[in-house]
Amino acid sequence: MLSYQHAYHAGNAADLHKHIALGELLARLTVKARGLTYVETHAGRGLYDLRSAEAAKTGEAARGIGRLAPDDATPYGEALNAVRARHGPSSYPGSPMIARLLLRPQDRLVLHELHPAEHAGLVRAMAGSGPPVAIHRRDGFEGSLALAPPDPRRGLVLVDPSYEVKAEYPAAATFVRRLLARWPEAVVLVWYPLLAAGRHTELVAGLRGLRARRDEVAIAGARTGMTGSGLLLVNAPHGAERALAAARAQSGGILLPLAGGHPGPGRT
Ligand code: SAM
Repeated sequence: MLSYQHAYHAGNAADLHKHIALGELLARLTVKARGLTYVETHAGRGLYDLRSAEAAKTGEAARGIGRLAPDDATPYGEALNAVRARHGPSSYPGSPMIARLLLRPQDRLVLHELHPAEHAGLVRAMAGSGPPVAIHRRDGFEGSLALAPPDPRRGLVLVDPSYEVKAEYPAAATFVRRLLARWPEAVVLVWYPLLAAGRHTELVAGLRGLRARRDEVAIAGARTGMTGSGLLLVNAPHGAERALAAARAQSGGILLPLAGGHPGPGRT
């Protein structure tokens, strides 16, 4: 099932949550000189134009990044502003591009994207200088399991499925458990939407018992559809709580604590 296209959603409130937290985590993981492996199970095309018909149709980017002026002094702001300087003010970086801009020559990226057009776009977006990048047009769960444990063994895996079907929630949990069986020290960041149907509960339940932190936020003004965004972080590195909280702090009021206060950064 490949009908989801991130171009309709790039730069929305959920992307702010995921991308700011990702930038903060990568900044913390790159303090040590030792290299790391960055893996994405579901990469998307890496670079978006927010003037596109897709972005205009949903208006999600206008209600997300369109209302923010990210600060260059933050990892997310640094990556976003580098992309704008190179590709124009309406460009928006996907997670692979943010990672590529924040990683170093001693690091490596392994990206999976199954959709033919998104994969081709990702290959174009990732061309040029930077840390070594491998891009695979294959199922991201299969590909990530096949490489685990990678060299370097230090690393972060972003799990960002499109959740087009219900089965993707438990499948993401099963994947994380299988990955950790092969690569126990992997830092794993899983994104999920908060919908009225509460489907994410199956994913969260599937990860219970792991050393995981969970950060859920409400999206200001969203009353139907996706009303919030969630992140689960397994093997949280030092400073992770602040990294997760940064998304809310830097979102200019777009990301809010959930009603009832549950659950901010904390354990599952
Ligand atoms: N991580 C991206 C970002 O934040 O910029 C967004 C990724 S988007 C939510 C999910 C992507 O997964 C889509 O581009 C879709 O084509 C791709 N996809 C769907 N099924 C896949 C699979 N089994 N393996 C790899 N990629 C898949």
